[in-house]
Amino acid sequence: MNTNVHRVEPGSKVRMKDFDPDATPLCGDKADGKEQSLKVQQRLGELQELLYAEHHHKVLIVLQGMDTSGKDGTVRHVMNGVSPSGVQVFSFKKPTEEELDHDFLWRVHAKTPGLGEIAVFNRSHYEDVLVVRVHNLVKEKVWRKRYEQINAFERALTASGTVILKFFLNISREEQRKRLQERIDDPKKHWKFQHGDIEERKLWDDYMDAYDDVLEKTSTKHAPWYVIPANAKWYRNLVIGNVLADALDSLKMEYPIVDLSGEVVD
Ligand code: AMP
Ligand code: MG
Repeated sequence: MNTNVHRVEPGSKVRMKDFDPDATPLCGDKADGKEQSLKVQQRLGELQELLYAEHHHKVLIVLQGMDTSGKDGTVRHVMNGVSPSGVQVFSFKKPTEEELDHDFLWRVHAKTPGLGEIAVFNRSHYEDVLVVRVHNLVKEKVWRKRYEQINAFERALTASGTVILKFFLNISREEQRKRLQERIDDPKKHWKFQHGDIEERKLWDDYMDAYDDVLEKTSTKHAPWYVIPANAKWYRNLVIGNVLADALDSLKMEYPIVDLSGEVVD
């Protein structure tokens, strides 16, 4: 599957409105897509075991997207075949006072993966040039410098063996309306509803402008962004699963050779 069609080429000009959240260019059929996803899940399970056994690489997955874009659902589906001990998920919320007393990368750096580990960031340091920018939480001259700081940070992580993959889950404004309405209508989804989401939704265009800059300034060779059409959940899961599995495959990992001389003694 040529997932490069969804990758943001480093240095390219980005406008969110050029991406179609309904597009499914790599698979035309939902049933077929779901079947392929099951195979990818299994492949990922095996690759994670190899990653852990080899103990040579680290994997960082960054998930960003508007409210209801499916960040949690992505983790649930894509990681379905991976041992729970093989992946750690971190959800970044509004920073605490202690976190705000430090530089914006401090809390994030602490959660980056070690050798053999996969870490998934549900929201990330990118909030510091998204929500922070949209709500003027710091001065422009402060957040403007952060793109370069983020690139340097990610370069340092890559230099120490980290594979970084970043996904923007691209839903349409109309799809968000439907999903928020479902959260209001379905008692089993009430817990997901936050009044703040309605307020944030009004700022949709500001967020899209902020995402334009994120994708344009921080999609790099070592840490590329993928804009994933995410109105169709099955397609989102299929593409992200494939990007991840292909990235792990390309590491050409091997199980370590262990000296098994000796005998099992009663
Ligand atoms: P949720 O992902 O729905 O649980 O919400 C987490 C909330 O925390 C979102 O509204 C984010 O915008 C907010 N958040 C995450 N990181 C930051 C940050 N660095 N500064 C301010 N708000 C943040
Ligand atoms: Mg929320």
